Amino acid sequence: MADINLIIIGPPGAGKGTQAAFLCREQNIPHISTGDMFRLAVKNATLLGLAAKSYMDRGELVPDEVTIGIVRERLSEKDVAKGFLLDGFPRTTVQAAALEEVLLSLGREITLVINVVVPEAELIRRLTGRLVCRSCGATYHRVFNLSPGGEVCGICRGELYQRSDDSEETALSRLAVYQRQTAPLLDYYAASGKLRNIDGLKPIAEVTAELRAVLAAKGT
Ligand code: ADP
Ligand code: ADP
Ligand code: ZN
Repeated sequence: MADINLIIIGPPGAGKGTQAAFLCREQNIPHISTGDMFRLAVKNATLLGLAAKSYMDRGELVPDEVTIGIVRERLSEKDVAKGFLLDGFPRTTVQAAALEEVLLSLGREITLVINVVVPEAELIRRLTGRLVCRSCGATYHRVFNLSPGGEVCGICRGELYQRSDDSEETALSRLAVYQRQTAPLLDYYAASGKLRNIDGLKPIAEVTAELRAVLAAKGT
């Protein structure tokens, strides 16, 4: 069977991580989230974490050369052979060009780019109410997506916390960064014929169903 190489793109808070978790479990492919990789590096106080932290705190993008480096390394690992889902990468035209080059050198290409569309007012509500598990990274929402575990993670009973960049102020800058640096990628992927827009405003399960339909239509 052909490999399934997916990108999930969309503004902060659109539900990329939430949908990626379902999709990767179903398709049995690794979930490659650059945001998760950076947060892990910050938590472990590695050199990468030190390099990324100040940008993340300000809601700005980590420099392309750093980000491209970690993705290039990740895509050279064995577990991506059957496919992968990139979540939060690429976020700039330079990253998109670097990704093309890496995939070309591996003799592979992107299968589909799934764009999760959500209006800005809803994004702020989602970001400022988001809760994340400190141990397993599972994502919940104070109002829209309660943890079945109540105050703790429904999967691993880990502690839930609010990301420091999910304050209203930093969320607003991240949305502006998205508009300026990432939204232009949509034209690039639309021109390649690989872009699929999905309505991310619907309830989580309905978005998942739409995603499944898009993948099924592609024959994956
Ligand atoms: P992203 O990875 O795009 O930044 P997340 O998947 O972390 O977004 O979702 C952002 C927040 O919105 C989380 O709190 C999540 O539980 C919640 N959320 C995700 N999808 C939906 C949805 N379809 N409806 C309502 N809330 C959602
Ligand atoms: P969200 O989907 O809520 O915006 P992420 O977890 O994807 O959040 O990203 C959190 C932060 O990590 C970003 O604000 C940015 O500082 C950094 N980051 C993640 N992915 C990238 C990337 N591809 N390029 C540059 N910075 C990134
Ligand atoms: Zn957990």
